[in-house]
Amino acid sequence: MPTAVICGITGQDGAYLAELLLGKGYRVIGTSRDAEVARTGNLRRLGIAERVSVVSTTLNDFRSVLQLLAKHQPDELYNLAGQSSVALSFEQPVETLESIGQGTITLLEAIRFLKLPVRLYSAGSAECFGDSPTPCDEQSPFRPRSPYAVAKSTAHWALVNYREAYGLYACTGILFNHESPLRPARFVTRKIVSSACRIRAGSAERLKLGNIDVERDWGWAPEYVDAMWRMLQLEVATDLVIATGITCSLRHFVDSTFRQLGLNWLDYVDHNPELIRPSEIRRGHADPRLARKLLGWESKVPVEEVIARMIEAEVGQTNEMAQQS
Ligand code: NDP
Repeated sequence: MPTAVICGITGQDGAYLAELLLGKGYRVIGTSRDAEVARTGNLRRLGIAERVSVVSTTLNDFRSVLQLLAKHQPDELYNLAGQSSVALSFEQPVETLESIGQGTITLLEAIRFLKLPVRLYSAGSAECFGDSPTPCDEQSPFRPRSPYAVAKSTAHWALVNYREAYGLYACTGILFNHESPLRPARFVTRKIVSSACRIRAGSAERLKLGNIDVERDWGWAPEYVDAMWRMLQLEVATDLVIATGITCSLRHFVDSTFRQLGLNWLDYVDHNPELIRPSEIRRGHADPRLARKLLGWESKVPVEEVIARMIEAEVGQTNEMAQQS
């Protein structure tokens, strides 16, 4: 039975990845900064909380990481932990850089120190491309426009360096946005879906948004964790762009969400200039052809369907809570 360690198992991707790997017969160990108080809601929601072990590990603490790897000797290691909000990174730049940049270097250094034959996947981000000419592929330059993207770029180049200098099997998935009902509410897609569902159910609230002209590539998270696993099955570790290849605006996302609920978004949405970021990427547009070629992976869930599934889950959750109260 192969062993996988997932750093950041309590998050959206960590939970879906754990579910995928359990289905493939892996023994799955996950990390949380403090396992005693870990938010296991996502694991419980997928019905797998009892099938994984969650252990306390802080990625920027070398001893903590050494202990994790020496004890569990994983075949595959997935680095999904770290401060993951672009918006929050403007408020917490040091925490963001430490948890992502230093955290990744600590993992790499621990693998080298222990001489482990482990395969490492690290969560990169399309945010690194900034406003580079689109569509962006593996050769596009990084022009980070947020502390989050600076941290992800640091982690990316550190990993490339360890791969080249020490021959580690390590790769970065440069992932564009991927959504699901497990997305925390502070992310704009979930915020839009949750608010629109509450309005549909009778709430008088107003949905406040920043710049809705930004354009992104939004995919379905469970498909993206499959791409992560496929990357670690390649003979040669390779960094890849993972995306749908289709871009739409946040305005379109809002319009579609409200339309699917039978509402006109113009009646419920306010512009809030305070939500505009100090620097922002105008348009994210990906060229994921290399991933298709090397992994045989392709996103099959279009954004309208992503929204429909998020709405369905949101309504289901609300009904469940109403029944319980
Ligand atoms: P989540 O925020 O859902 O999960 C990340 C996990 O990391 C959390 O469960 C948390 O675990 C841990 N974490 C949170 N903050 C910190 C911190 N300051 N220091 C250390 N650990 C922390 O992220 P996703 O699952 O959505 O994403 C997984 C990875 O992929 C992240 O690195 C993210 O940046 C990256 N990514 C995600 C994209 C997306 O669209 N979802 C797109 C591109 C990249 P705990 O609290 O238990 O310690």
